[in-house]
Amino acid sequence: MIDFHADTAMIIFKRQLSLLSNDRHIDLEKLHQGGYLAQWFAMFVSLNHLDNLTPFEFFTNMYNYFIAEAEKHSDKVTIVSNYDEYKQALTAEKIAAFISAEEGEIIKEGLHMVDKIEDMKVRLITLTWNYQNSLGAPHSMPEIGLTNYGKEVVEYLNQKHILIDVSHLSDAGIDDVLAISKKPIIASHSNARAIYNKSRNLKDSHIKQIASTDGLIGVNYYSGFLSDNKTSYVADILQMTKYLVDIGGENTIGFGSDFDGIDCPLEMKDASAVGLLANALNNEFTAAQVDKLLFKNAERIIRAL
Ligand SMILES: [Zn+2]
Repeated sequence: MIDFHADTAMIIFKRQLSLLSNDRHIDLEKLHQGGYLAQWFAMFVSLNHLDNLTPFEFFTNMYNYFIAEAEKHSDKVTIVSNYDEYKQALTAEKIAAFISAEEGEIIKEGLHMVDKIEDMKVRLITLTWNYQNSLGAPHSMPEIGLTNYGKEVVEYLNQKHILIDVSHLSDAGIDDVLAISKKPIIASHSNARAIYNKSRNLKDSHIKQIASTDGLIGVNYYSGFLSDNKTSYVADILQMTKYLVDIGGENTIGFGSDFDGIDCPLEMKDASAVGLLANALNNEFTAAQVDKLLFKNAERIIRAL
């Protein structure tokens, strides 16, 4: 498994928990038990809980805590930022940890901030969370596209080793990213609106357009984005995956659990239990397709970093 989105960095920072072992959805022990190859760790910044810091300062504090935890357990995990480093992590039998940023406001001060987060090994940025920011508007404001600065950021990211994540973004914002970006576009933790009608989920046309960029869509395990069921069931994740594969193709779909960012009851209780999903996939797809969904599509994205 290569999972494109989890909020573990935020939760362990806020509660001062260990990355090695904690009572949340993801820790290094659970990732090993689940047979993960890599996890993308999102540095999620809530603009409503900044504790009087700037978004970038809050991001940096969380980032420093995460890096320190990873260094404490460098026998089990290594921070990686490209395909070679990812492969070296696998050879050393360590979890490869990629870093993403979830809230574009951390780079509001100017394009030099993109350089700064690139130096910090950030390789994916979610342009907005659920609030309007200097780059654009969230899914709850479907008609509002990117700002002029947001468009500049998209162009500049294309010159850098940072991919663009359109999860949480407005429909008009996704249209703008699709029109401007020349790189694979990622929706790290987004489902299909045709299966469950939420603005946070993707329209079929966007699923197809993301596929045409050679991008990737990570299936989100949150019950509120899957179906009317209050519990996140593997059967619902499987149904969502099948639909996304039907529309986007088997080369476009992966997983973005949203573990540690979701609070619904989970049939797959944490990262150690992803074998349940792998078994369900094996009943519906060929072995070659399952490999694509679990890690090969993600590896293609990593090669493009
Ligand atoms: Zn999110």
